Amino acid sequence: MKVLISVDMEGICGVTSWVQVMPPEVEGHPRSTVEYERARARLTREVNAAVEGALAGGAEEVVVNEAHDGMRNLVADDLHESVRFITGSDKPLGMMQGVDLPGVGAAFFVGYHAKAGTPHAPLAHTWTGYVNDVRLNGRSTGEFGINAALAGHFGVPVTLVTGDDKAVAQVRDWVGEQVVGVVVKEGLTTFSALHLHPRTAQQRIREGARDAARHARGAAPWRLPPDTRAEIDFDHQARAQACLFIPGVERAGERTVAFTARDALAFNQLFRAVMKASAITFSP
Ligand SMILES: [Zn+2]
Repeated sequence: MKVLISVDMEGICGVTSWVQVMPPEVEGHPRSTVEYERARARLTREVNAAVEGALAGGAEEVVVNEAHDGMRNLVADDLHESVRFITGSDKPLGMMQGVDLPGVGAAFFVGYHAKAGTPHAPLAHTWTGYVNDVRLNGRSTGEFGINAALAGHFGVPVTLVTGDDKAVAQVRDWVGEQVVGVVVKEGLTTFSALHLHPRTAQQRIREGARDAARHARGAAPWRLPPDTRAEIDFDHQARAQACLFIPGVERAGERTVAFTARDALAFNQLFRAVMKASAITFSP
């Protein structure tokens, strides 16, 4: 069995500010090379802990997919020597690239954060800062729900999540209690948390990943129901307007668009198109 690790960054130990997770070349955000470099080194150690756990739990190979802004945050030279890893943006399967590789039997979410709007959850958001909510058949979800559906499309169950306490609770609530949850920090507000020591967090991730790999064979993939209705709320009506050029996407409220997707791949395609179309600037 192979394990695919989808690696986000906001949910790692020690992180509560955009400054820590923004690559220095990203425009429009406060940046700190020192803080970012420290955080990406810690991100790499958390991933290595998950890799070690997966191998101890019976995985034959681990593929690591970058799933955070810019998609090249891991320190490649410091990764566990056994892995292959995927970097770069605009991947067809995005945060879940690699889940379609032959032999993948489990997906791990490492460094995940809570959905947009969640109180007391560090850096909670869904995809970008301007999406207020995503609903699938009326039920609010986050990146974890979108990604669990893509994994399910390829018959792959999600069996591990690491992140803050709210993210872990949301993933287990959405996917089911088959998901081993490793809490590395307790959220206090959007920009504060009570953390474990980083080495303690890594040890817990190692143990959680081992259990998650061991239990993968009995876990069920999360399948998006056919013809799911998706609704996306934005912060501004102009973003909703911009999405109406996409066939099948319609206005469902002042700042809301909606579409129906026959399966998770079709959902992914339309959702990504909506994210691209809505990324408008407000100068005419
Ligand atoms: Zn991220």
